[in-house]
Formats: sequence, C-alpha cells, structure tokens
Amino acid sequence: NRRFVLNRRPQGEPDEQTFRLETGPVPVPGEGEFLVRNHYLSLDPYMRGRLSDRKSYAAPVGIGETMVGGTVGRVVSSRHPDHAEGDWVVTVGGWQDYAISNGALTFPLAADMPNKSWALGVLGMPGFTAWAGLTQIGQPKAGETLVVAAATGPVGAMVGQLAKHCGLRVVGVAGGPEKCRHAVEVQGFDACIDHRAADFAQKLAQAVPEGIDIYFENVGGKVFDAVMPLLNSGARIPLCGTVATYNSPDLADEGRADRTGLVMARFLQQRIVLRGFIVFDDFGHLYPDFMREVAPLVAAGRIVYTEDMTDGLENAPRALNQVLRGENFGKKVIRIAAE
Ligand code: NDP
Repeated sequence: NRRFVLNRRPQGEPDEQTFRLETGPVPVPGEGEFLVRNHYLSLDPYMRGRLSDRKSYAAPVGIGETMVGGTVGRVVSSRHPDHAEGDWVVTVGGWQDYAISNGALTFPLAADMPNKSWALGVLGMPGFTAWAGLTQIGQPKAGETLVVAAATGPVGAMVGQLAKHCGLRVVGVAGGPEKCRHAVEVQGFDACIDHRAADFAQKLAQAVPEGIDIYFENVGGKVFDAVMPLLNSGARIPLCGTVATYNSPDLADEGRADRTGLVMARFLQQRIVLRGFIVFDDFGHLYPDFMREVAPLVAAGRIVYTEDMTDGLENAPRALNQVLRGENFGKKVIRIAAE
C-alpha cells in the first residue's frame, strides 16, 4: 500500500518536503470495518487548509498522518454489515491505494452515476456546494446578474449553469483566454473575464451594466476588489471560498492595507447579505434534493462538466499545486487504479 503522509507543514506553496510517500502492507479490516481499493481521488482547494495548523473549521492533518481526500473505490473485503465485497462506495479514503473504513462518511455510489469519478465532482461535493450556496444563500431571481470566479472549476461551472437555467445574466471570471472561451461557448455563460488581464476591473464593470446582484465568492483577492464597487443594493454573497489566498502564509501579505472598514461600510450602505457556509455542515440534509434536481440535468446534457484527470497517485502533490495555481482545467481527479 502506497500512501502520502504529511511530512512538514508548508510555508506558502506546498513543496517536495510537504508530503512523503510511504509503502507498507495492505491493511486488514477489523470487526466493523472494511477495506476499500481507492480508484479515484478528488483534489480540492480545501486540502491546502488541512496542511496548516491555522485555526479553521476542520482539524489539520497531523504530521505523519495520511493526507485526507474524498475517493471513489471498491470494497475488497468487509467485516461491516452495510458494505459488502465488490460494492462501489464514495468515501474519504485519502491519498493512498487502499483504505480502511468503519463506514463514517461513506455512501454507496449511486447506481446511475454516469461516470464513477463524477461522484467527486459534478454530482458530488463541489456540485452540491454550488447548488446549495446558490439556492440557499444566493436566492437567484430571473433578470438578475451573477458573477462567479474559478468559472470553469467544478463549483463555478455549476453555479453559472444553474443560474443560467434560472434566467440570470451570468458573468464568469477565469484565468486565461482559453478558460474564458470555454465558460461562454461550452458552459453557456453570457461573458467571462480573464482576471490576469491588466484592465480586468474595467472589463468586469463593462460586463455587468446593471451591477451585480449575486457574487458567488470562490476566490477573494483582486476579484473581490473588482466586484465590491459593482454590488447592487440588496446583493447576496454566498461566501464559499477564497482560494486566491490559500497559499499566503500571512493574509496581510497580499500587498494591501487592512480594508475591513471600507468593505464593511460598502456592505452596510448597499444592504449586502453575506453568509459563509461549509457545505455538508450547513446544508448536508439537502443533498437528496440536489441529486433529485440536478442529476437529471446532468444526464440530459443540460449541465456540462469538465474533468481534468491525472493518472497515478504519485502525481497527487503536483496536481494539488496545479489546482491552487489555476493550472487545472475542470475538476481535478487522480486516477489511482483503473476500474
Ligand atoms: P477549482 O477546481 O476551480 O480550482 C481552484 C481555481 O481557483 C483554480 O483553477 C483557479 O482558476 C482559481 N484561482 C486560483 N487562484 C486564483 C487567484 N489568485 N485569483 C483568481 N482565481 C484563482 O476549485 P473548486 O471549484 O473545487 O472550488 C472553488 C472554491 O470553492 C474554492 O475556494 C473552494 O475552497 C471552495 N469550496 C468551498 C466549499 C464549502 O463548503 N464552503 C466546498 C467546496 C469548495 P482560474 O485559472 O480560472 O483562475
């Protein structure tokens, strides 16, 4: 069994010292446990937070512990009443070939999942995050304008497509012309602005002639700076993530003075509603509603999905850095083993 353990907490971007690949025997399940062969591993921005011992909503991974991660795999042997040998499951198997589970946070893979790995993306945690944040906090209304960054990632792509189905004007923000083209031509967004362009803030303003009613916050940083003056009275901000700063050892190092006063004054004057959420903590009970509503849209091709698959567990550390840098194109998944 190969597994990546946390070797050293990174300062800034994770490097060769961050993870250590260990090899050992395949573990044997005890009473009430099962052994699962991991086939697909999800790589997600939140993983950067687990590498840090900064205070957060979830405990960090300990030094020497297996790196956490959502997985799709197959039960190899079982001493658990609910999970039989041969069953496909969605679980948190981590960055390794095989995992032992006691059934916590484990679900049977839906029989009609179009591709098994999609349970980690469009019909899994990121897709559900988009749906929950948009419907529960964003409260979209036809004719409004929505802005979402990381527009071709699994969260942003779903947010924008659902909002289009609700009749909103949808403006994406993404890194580079290729992703922007994809957001418009494949995902059906009305416009998509490259955040790396020198005149980004000006272009964004031009793309939202009637201001912004929903800003689905995925990135923070300069995208948020450009959005803030464009927020309409009564705008809503589902505060989902701030990936632009996940690698910053010190949040004050983004080259800007403390702007809290400015930000809060703007929110007050415009009566902005901002609510943070951790998808399964806050909205987990709505997952069946999400599946009922969105799985048929995916099956019918009315929601398109882009997956960015990398083969080989050994490539997981590099691939996580790609996600944090924006070098992924679509949902980043590691194929650990062929089906
Ligand atoms: P993605 O697969 O879209 O990967 C992250 C993307 O962020 C990159 O591809 C890049 O896209 C963009 N990005 C990175 N740095 C910057 C930057 N400096 N400025 C602008 N964009 C940047 O991620 P997900 O769709 O999986 O996640 C999106 C967000 O949702 C994250 O913040 C994540 O933490 C959050 N999240 C929150 C959950 C919750 O429960 N609250 C649950 C799941 C996700 P590009 O090249 O286009 O810039």
